[in-house]
Amino acid sequence: MIKKAIFGGTFDPIHNGHLHIAYEALYKLNLDKIIFMPSGNPPHKLNKNITEAFLRYEMVKTAIRNEDNFDVSDYEINRDNLSYTYQTLEHFTNLEKETKWYFITGVDCLMDIENWKNTEEILNLCTFVVFNRTGYSIESVLKKKISIEKKCNNKIVFLDIPLLEISSTNIRKHIKEGRKVSHLMPESVCYIIEQLGLYK
Ligand code: ATP
Repeated sequence: MIKKAIFGGTFDPIHNGHLHIAYEALYKLNLDKIIFMPSGNPPHKLNKNITEAFLRYEMVKTAIRNEDNFDVSDYEINRDNLSYTYQTLEHFTNLEKETKWYFITGVDCLMDIENWKNTEEILNLCTFVVFNRTGYSIESVLKKKISIEKKCNNKIVFLDIPLLEISSTNIRKHIKEGRKVSHLMPESVCYIIEQLGLYK
């Protein structure tokens, strides 16, 4: 059976932390493909100043261009309305019914998942895989995991891996402060940021 994962995020910008968990997921879950899914108009970040979707998409595209097992989708950025994860999963699982679908995400999303639309359906449509992240105790994560599993009558996979302490927020902050960020992301992403003067 073909195994594919959707990796949703704002990717503003994509960085080595994202690539790190994608490679870990590929290896640990024995996946055939990871589809990076930059969000169009993320409901939970409506009030924030987010870089144009097309540019975030281009940065992801260039970051993964040499990796056969990684792909990027423009499905969410081309939707007119808000992009909800359950709709994306409905779309892809309907397109490829024989594929086993996963959704990979950081633990910050697990902590917030009850605010997502149709949580139960999300867990029904895929195997939901959560990576740990700095700032969250394992106890609180496991507590949340168990409570959601009970509520939705479904299992969540938690992967406890060595962490890379990188976030897009910090990268944007560093750029504003004139600090170097080239060690935190692929060279081609850094090039786009510099050429377009993003995050200044
Ligand atoms: P921001 O700082 O703007 O919130 P971010 O760095 O968290 O951005 P997103 O695009 O929101 O990046 O992340 C997409 C997914 O990747 C989220 O589920 C997030 O938890 C996860 N993620 C991002 N960076 C890391 C990291 N360093 N380690 C583990 N997971 C990460």
